Amino acid sequence: MAPTDEKTTGAPLTGGCMCGAVRWELSAPPIGAAYCHCTRCRRRTGSSVSVSALVAADTLTITAGEELLRAYAPESGWHKYFCGECGSAVLTRNPEDASLVGMRMGGFDGDPGVRPAFHQFTAYAPAWAPVPDDGLPRFEERADYAKLAEAAERD
Ligand SMILES: [Zn+2]
Ligand SMILES: [Zn+2]
Repeated sequence: MAPTDEKTTGAPLTGGCMCGAVRWELSAPPIGAAYCHCTRCRRRTGSSVSVSALVAADTLTITAGEELLRAYAPESGWHKYFCGECGSAVLTRNPEDASLVGMRMGGFDGDPGVRPAFHQFTAYAPAWAPVPDDGLPRFEERADYAKLAEAAERD
């Protein structure tokens, strides 16, 4: 999966986990990004909200530490991959659609270019961290990630 595509000219988008054992790069910019306020993300991150950037799976290369990646696979929903050494959330995969991967946005080394386009699972935001009044669309439950592609086309 070497990034040899013509669209990959320019600096690759890189990132990794906290301890640095897991490293990855993207051969193309993310499709979009979103805030998630769901209970799983709250528990998973120990924080109030998570931000993930949706990428095409064939643009992602794990350049180091792939053997350290461990997955938590809930009965429903996306499988959550984290570094087995430091526990950092790295990415999430849809078991029903291998074409898309959600990169945990805090893992990017630099600015991935995209900005979160909406908030999902706002009904589950904790009282101590209400959804900010930032003008972005809000969805009480899951938002269709296809909306990211639609939003990207509108911009
Ligand atoms: Zn790590
Ligand atoms: Zn979530």
